[in-house]
Amino acid sequence: MGHTLISRAGHTRGDTAVPPELSCAGVRAVFDEYRTGVLDTDTRDLVCTHLDGCADCRPQWRRFRWGAAQTSVLYGELAGYLGDGFVEHRDTTHELVTAWDQAAPRTDLEIRRFYRTTQAYLYDQVLWHASGTRPDYVAAAQPILQEQPGTILDWGCGIGVDLLRMHQIGLDVWGCELPSPPRDFLIWRARHHGYHRPILDPGNAGRRAQPTVLWLIDTLDHLRDPQASLGALLDTVDVLITERYVDDPRRGRLGFHFRRPLSEITELLAGHGLHPRPQQDQPALLSVWSRTRRVPSQPRDAAHDVRQGAPCA
Ligand SMILES: [Zn+2]
Repeated sequence: MGHTLISRAGHTRGDTAVPPELSCAGVRAVFDEYRTGVLDTDTRDLVCTHLDGCADCRPQWRRFRWGAAQTSVLYGELAGYLGDGFVEHRDTTHELVTAWDQAAPRTDLEIRRFYRTTQAYLYDQVLWHASGTRPDYVAAAQPILQEQPGTILDWGCGIGVDLLRMHQIGLDVWGCELPSPPRDFLIWRARHHGYHRPILDPGNAGRRAQPTVLWLIDTLDHLRDPQASLGALLDTVDVLITERYVDDPRRGRLGFHFRRPLSEITELLAGHGLHPRPQQDQPALLSVWSRTRRVPSQPRDAAHDVRQGAPCA
């Protein structure tokens, strides 16, 4: 590419050139690569840091993302759903961070109230999906989901992009989400996508869906106390799938994210008999844990026991 990405010469780490900082022009020149996630990690982090601190580039980035989203079906659905109330190019990420900082919710009740009232999160989720920023996790997981018997629970399904996609490819899937504008939008969309199950409340979703696979994408980071929130589900599912976790997460700027290292998640799940699949069996983009031993307090039927005997590690 002919653009000047780096404002001064980078140094070398291994065989990868690491730019020490990016100019505004350099950042704007890689907006599309940043959007689609093809930048190397170091450059991506530099772009992210620059956008955090640069009041000139941030609105440009927002317009760029909305521009990329504008031709999608999902964008059209949001505009149709909100009607006259629809606001083009809304700066929902900033709104969301500010609203969270102001509300400073601590308890589960306060967090529930926050999500119930904020419409910014609806826009933010639509933009995240419709702009093409979000990786295609369902495609990445499809071989695992199709070989795994039973029912999937999309826990914290938001506007339901994954839920409706999994339904469309013939998987047995339920979704749950807190009462919120994203959930209302999903209920409106579901009819148009031929999905007729109710969207469950996270509090009783496990009992209703009886899942064997827990789909926890972009959700774990929102849980202050995953063990308390997910409860018995961790003792009963056979497979748990999240977006890819790494040992050394770099902190994002979103105050409502509790980014945890892989080791912490693995330790938590090991206490429920769920263990990471071997590295060679982990699909790109995802982290997958499987049950490798029984939890004595959870009696299971014979059919379930046969499945548990399959080697997972
Ligand atoms: Zn800038």
